[in-house]
Amino acid sequence: MKKTTVGIFGGGQLGAMLAQSALSLGIKCVFLEDAPNCTASHFGQVYSSNQLDEFLQVADVFTLEFENTDADVIAQINANNDKRCYPSDNVLRVAQDRLQEKTTFNELGIDTVPFIAVYSQADLTKATAELGLPIVLKTTCGGYDGKGQYIIKTHDDIDQAWQQLGDSAPLIAEGFIHFSNEVSIIAVRGQDGQIKSYPLVENHHHNGILSHSYAPAINLDNQQQLTEQANVAISKLLEHFNYVGVLTLELFVTENGILANEIAPRVHNSGHWSIEGAVCSQFENHIRAVVGLPLGSTEIVRPSMMINVIGNYPNTSEVLAIDNTHLHHYCKSERENRKIAHITLMPYNERMKANIRAILPNKMGLVE
Ligand code: AMP
Repeated sequence: MKKTTVGIFGGGQLGAMLAQSALSLGIKCVFLEDAPNCTASHFGQVYSSNQLDEFLQVADVFTLEFENTDADVIAQINANNDKRCYPSDNVLRVAQDRLQEKTTFNELGIDTVPFIAVYSQADLTKATAELGLPIVLKTTCGGYDGKGQYIIKTHDDIDQAWQQLGDSAPLIAEGFIHFSNEVSIIAVRGQDGQIKSYPLVENHHHNGILSHSYAPAINLDNQQQLTEQANVAISKLLEHFNYVGVLTLELFVTENGILANEIAPRVHNSGHWSIEGAVCSQFENHIRAVVGLPLGSTEIVRPSMMINVIGNYPNTSEVLAIDNTHLHHYCKSERENRKIAHITLMPYNERMKANIRAILPNKMGLVE
């Protein structure tokens, strides 16, 4: 019997973890990625972008782990009758443009921070008047981990902010929100339309980069109500895009409920805990959806904490000497602000957290 081959656009750690879970289902993955020694290269063949045709031939079905995948290539695959890419280009185009993204949320009745499109410095001045200061000015495309953003606190910042980001216009100006928590919901939709979602995860950032996550969230007052709101929102999005696979929705928790910040049309860092902490991980569920298998349970096995290893590696023996730790090493070189591994504590307690904190070279926000 010929093995199903999944072609993944991108070859980072997300691709590697997708391939690991595919392997146990007897499914092979190949990758389109220009870095030949990428993390995923340990799990399947890597094709460079000038080998696109070969990559498109060798796989039976496609998916992506890299959000800035060329949406036109995805559209071309789906225009052909014999092969498909999940998710399709419709959601990718929206996720790649913050203005379209927030407009779509609002059209679907999903609340967001107030926002205004900014095409010129005059628009920016107008936006500060309409939204009130402070505002967060963001590029519409290409920003991640807090990059491409400027917080305008006073009118004197406008010049500087425009100088820094104006070349990337159109920009999006957002009202600055005083949220109590940042959470995300991850859900998966199968080819038959079935939807399953993981519990609400609480995310802690440091310098705009995810530092650690708790699954389920631990600091929410009205968790059940917020979970229901988040489920309604992500279900609307999944249906709207006729989505297949894992979708992530990042949210701010405010006094008045949740506000949607952004979607990631892929498996997500805030779902890494699910490898050990859920009955079926986000990675396995994504593969299941993409190849048309029944979805697995998204139920939590035990409360989990995921800690990103950023910049420098800790000593592996020291990590594993702490009870209930699981280390996922991405085989990447050390670099400032780079996610190079993650650690899952399942279950976790304050003592284990303190022990991890003590051995991590870069604590990156692990001090609460
Ligand atoms: P983003 O690139 O939109 O995910 O933003 C990165 C981080 O900046 C978020 O995780 C928030 O901590 C913060 N942030 C983004 N937008 C806003 C906003 N409108 N108000 C306050 N904080 C924000």
